[in-house]
Amino acid sequence: MLEAYYGDLNWWPGGSRDEILIGAILTQNTSWNNVEKSLSELRKRGMLDIRIIARTSERILSGLIRSSGFYRIKASRLISVCRSIAAAGGFESLEKKTTSEAEEFLLALNGIGEETAESVLCYILDRDVFVVDRYTVRIFFRLGMDNTTRRDEIRSLVEMSIKGNDSLKNFHATLVQLGKEHCRPTPYCSGCPLSSICEYFQRVTSP
Ligand code: SF4
Repeated sequence: MLEAYYGDLNWWPGGSRDEILIGAILTQNTSWNNVEKSLSELRKRGMLDIRIIARTSERILSGLIRSSGFYRIKASRLISVCRSIAAAGGFESLEKKTTSEAEEFLLALNGIGEETAESVLCYILDRDVFVVDRYTVRIFFRLGMDNTTRRDEIRSLVEMSIKGNDSLKNFHATLVQLGKEHCRPTPYCSGCPLSSICEYFQRVTSP
């Protein structure tokens, strides 16, 4: 339904695998617009490279990523994650791991939570993993999913129903788009492509 409405959104909005990782960490608790400014600063200096970030000082990096917010913490985490991945042999080495092994490795790194790990698995390693973010949870609960459903249960349900990395990538992208355009914190339901199947919408529009 969402894919028919939005088409292929061609996500992730970043170029190289290094850039995707850097963006995935910078986007924690901030909007993508703010991240783009930081990525642009790093791009200008040829620093969208995990091995370069791994050798950069926290002071310099935090100055370049200020627009992403929490810049001192993010600089420290980014350097630490880049060092760990580079030391482990880079993405080439992660590619040789099973999805569970790669996820376990990522989750052990300071600065990589469940959503960021899922983004790396889905958008960098091309694994059949669904990224559960705040847009997903908000939309699913409004559509009618029991709001005690855990994020791992949501992920499993989606991965059982949507097959293939490309489809999972685009499903996540379309949910983000819907969450920005319509299913905002205060929903803007007019013209929403999911209104016909949405419990929230039925409730607020029923006489
Ligand atoms: S109809 Fe409204 S509440 Fe339901 S998914 Fe769309 S924007 Fe969200």
